[in-house]
Amino acid sequence: MERDDQRKIERLGTLLRSMRRGVAFTGAGLSTGSGIPDFRSPGGLWTRHRPIDFDSFLSSAESRREAWRRKFAIDDATNGAAPNAAHRAVARLVEQGGIATVVTQNIDGLHQASGVTGEKLIELHGNGTYATCLDCGARHELAEIRPGFEATGEPPACRICGGFVKSATISFGQPMPAEAMRRAQDAAREADVFLVLGSSLVVYPAAALPVSAKQAGAALVIANREPTDLDPIADLVLRTDLVALLAPFA
Ligand SMILES: [Zn+2]
Repeated sequence: MERDDQRKIERLGTLLRSMRRGVAFTGAGLSTGSGIPDFRSPGGLWTRHRPIDFDSFLSSAESRREAWRRKFAIDDATNGAAPNAAHRAVARLVEQGGIATVVTQNIDGLHQASGVTGEKLIELHGNGTYATCLDCGARHELAEIRPGFEATGEPPACRICGGFVKSATISFGQPMPAEAMRRAQDAAREADVFLVLGSSLVVYPAAALPVSAKQAGAALVIANREPTDLDPIADLVLRTDLVALLAPFA
C-alpha cells in the first residue's frame, strides 16, 4: 500500500474515533459489497430500462404492472442480500455514539438489518422491502402482494381503501419526503464529521447535504470508488473499496 494511502487511512481512523456527532451519508456503493448492483452505473438496470416515473405509475395500469414486474425481478436477483462489513462498521459507530445519524439513499433495508433503526436512520429514497397505499398510507407486505400479482397480472390494490399500492420507495418525479429531508439537513448542520460512503453525490437535493455540513464546520470525508464533484472541498478523499476500508471498524 502507498504511504499516502496509509496516512489517509490513519487520518480516517482518528476522525472516526474522535467524532461525537458524525453523519454517515450512504449510497449504492455501500451495498455493492452485498451483491446489490448500482442501477445507475453504466450497464446497470436503469441504463437498460428507463425507470418508471411517478406520473406514469399514477396514470397507467400498464406502468403499474410493469413497475411491479420489475420490482419482483430485482428482488429475485438480490434475494438474500445481507449487510456487509461496511454496514456493520457504520452500525458499530452508531452504537458507540460517534455517528449520530445515518442518512441513506439506499432502499435495500440493509442498515436496519445491521441494527440501525428509528431516529438514527433517515431513508431519503424510501424503503423497498415493503409497500404502501398511495391514498391511505397503509403498509402492505411484499410477500402478501406477490401471489395475487403473479396469479392475475393485476397491480395490487389497497385492502383497506382500494387505492394504488406501490413499493415504499421514492420514484422519479415523486416529491422527496419533506420530513426526512428536514431531519437530514438538521443532522448535516450539526455534524462534526460528515462521511460520504459510496455515493457519487449526483442526486440532488440529497447531494447538497455535504455542502451544508462543510459550511457549518464539519470535516468532510468522501469515500467512493469514483471521483465526485465535491472532492475538491473534502478534507479527506478515499478511493478504496469500502468493505476493505471499514472492516477494521466493524
Ligand atoms: Zn389504502
